[in-house]
Amino acid sequence: MPCSFSALKNGKMMGTIAENIDSIRHRIRIAAERAGRDPRSVRLVAVSKHQPLEAIRQAMAVGQVVFGENYLQEASDKIAVLGQGVVWHCIGHLQSNKARLAAEIFDCIETLDRLKLAKALESRLVELGKIMPVLVQVNVGGEAQKAGVSPKEAGQLCHELQQFPHLILQGLMTMPPFVENPEESRGCFRQLRLLGEDLAAQGFLGQRGSVELSMGMSGDFEVAIEEGATLVRVGTALFGER
Ligand SMILES: *Cc1c(COP(=O)(O)O)cnc(C)c1O
Repeated sequence: MPCSFSALKNGKMMGTIAENIDSIRHRIRIAAERAGRDPRSVRLVAVSKHQPLEAIRQAMAVGQVVFGENYLQEASDKIAVLGQGVVWHCIGHLQSNKARLAAEIFDCIETLDRLKLAKALESRLVELGKIMPVLVQVNVGGEAQKAGVSPKEAGQLCHELQQFPHLILQGLMTMPPFVENPEESRGCFRQLRLLGEDLAAQGFLGQRGSVELSMGMSGDFEVAIEEGATLVRVGTALFGER
């Protein structure tokens, strides 16, 4: 058995994980340049939920640094084994009663969407003496089944987060409604960027540097980059179908 397996998409062979990462990095660079942006201002978050350790190791071997995980127990098991040297982002919905473990294992929480969760994270971070970068998740599409604050509530939550010294608010994250054509998500991505600019102008965001915008997935990350994404969360195009 060769140890570098190929990713599958709709039953078709994709490249190896190393080849996929290479191709995604290239596409990130082209999209950034098309938008007149520095390609280094865009970081790739490899979404590794439901992927085996070996797949993650292959990505690490070609220099992938940031990984995104959705499920706390799965993330905890993986981080315990693969541990140091890479960075783990929480990109899944977090229950407040799981905040203690999340505060321990993650390097960034991208899905902060309510005060209660912020309080629970802060109380564990105080004990740990750990500073946690966070993003506020915004439900730009207003879908009932999706987590995130409404764009209207985002300012209030960002304001409230200022009372928690261990949470470093770095920006916003969104997951737009599913569409076939990535162009249809452009409006949502733009709305998140404008919201970020608005909150920065009000002094809620960006005091500690530039505003991070986590948006764009396998099907639409290039459009997201054109609209200002600084973090793109790519799973399927990198690892294959889950
Ligand atoms: C699974 C997931 C992704 C990756 O989606 P792909 O379409 O596989 O690239 C990105 N963001 C979030 C929040 C996810 O849950």
